[in-house]
Amino acid sequence: MKENFKQKSLLQAKDTMAGLGLERYRGEQVFKWIWQKNARDFSGMTDLSKELRLSLDCRFLIAGLEIANVRQEAGGVKKYLLRLQDGQCVESVFIREGQRRTICVSCQVGCPFGCKFCATALLGFKRNLLAYEIADQVRLIQEDIGEKCTNVVFMGMGEPLANLQEVIDALGTMSSPLGLSVSWRHTTVSTVGLLEGMGMLLRSALRVKLAISLNFADEDMRREFMPIASSNPLAEVLRIARIYSMDKEMVTFEYVMIKNINDRIKDAKNLVRLLKGIPSKINLIPYNEHPRLPYQRAADKNIESFYEFLLDSHHTVVIRKSRGQKILAGCGQLSGAV
Ligand code: SAH
Repeated sequence: MKENFKQKSLLQAKDTMAGLGLERYRGEQVFKWIWQKNARDFSGMTDLSKELRLSLDCRFLIAGLEIANVRQEAGGVKKYLLRLQDGQCVESVFIREGQRRTICVSCQVGCPFGCKFCATALLGFKRNLLAYEIADQVRLIQEDIGEKCTNVVFMGMGEPLANLQEVIDALGTMSSPLGLSVSWRHTTVSTVGLLEGMGMLLRSALRVKLAISLNFADEDMRREFMPIASSNPLAEVLRIARIYSMDKEMVTFEYVMIKNINDRIKDAKNLVRLLKGIPSKINLIPYNEHPRLPYQRAADKNIESFYEFLLDSHHTVVIRKSRGQKILAGCGQLSGAV
């Protein structure tokens, strides 16, 4: 069976060429063709000799994701259902906002953590994505829209810190000037709050932005709605968040606003108490409703009052514009339906 060249990191591509008795820079050439020029075979790689192209073709193939379905909403949101080599699908979302073009990627098929309000949880967990399957979402969507993205966020299906090595390898391909050249500083990894992964990210050389899905300022409620919170105590999550903000990049706390659940001023007060002394931004996300889930979006007036309360308490806070809801492409609405 032919080996898939797309699975190789830049270093592995160079090593492979060296292993074949060729110059290492041949690996760079092929890597660029794959990631920058969307090559799907070796035949068009005009800076390689015909013989070399033929001999690579005998050994390797170049296979990646395919678009299974696209839905577009007015206002610059496009939701992609992408098919992996094994036939499973993930969703990715493209969001255009002013000069910013963001691609929201998935890192797992489904998700193991079962947050009660999230549609991806309904799928259960199927498998982790490999690094190239993560990076290929960005490449394929860029190819489809004919433009480079400016930002990448790991807020699609799955938990990036539960698939950290593949995420780190994907970031390598995504950030490489020979790959997709998206800067780390424009890349955000969002976590449900896994302590082990947060610690590893903190100690690594990576300087990606970190977003933490806090969602509840009350630990008991957080445990009720986000079962994984039981084994990842909030105090510890906040301790690492604080160090991350001080040593690396300022963290963002995401707070999904669900009607009659976490949208009252008393919740805002708890939140202020909890985040005291942690340099951070707060992202209020009006809940995106899903036909298979019983929760509702908080009322606009509650979101406004919550926002005002946080502002008055000197927090940096934004209300995330809810986009893509009509096509179920909003946060937590991704559930792999064709
Ligand atoms: N597993 C990661 C990344 C995926 S979820 C994490 O938990 O951060 C991305 C964000 O969407 C999270 O902040 C999550 O709390 C939020 N979210 C989940 N379901 C949602 C919904 N129905 N409406 C709005 N946001 C939701």
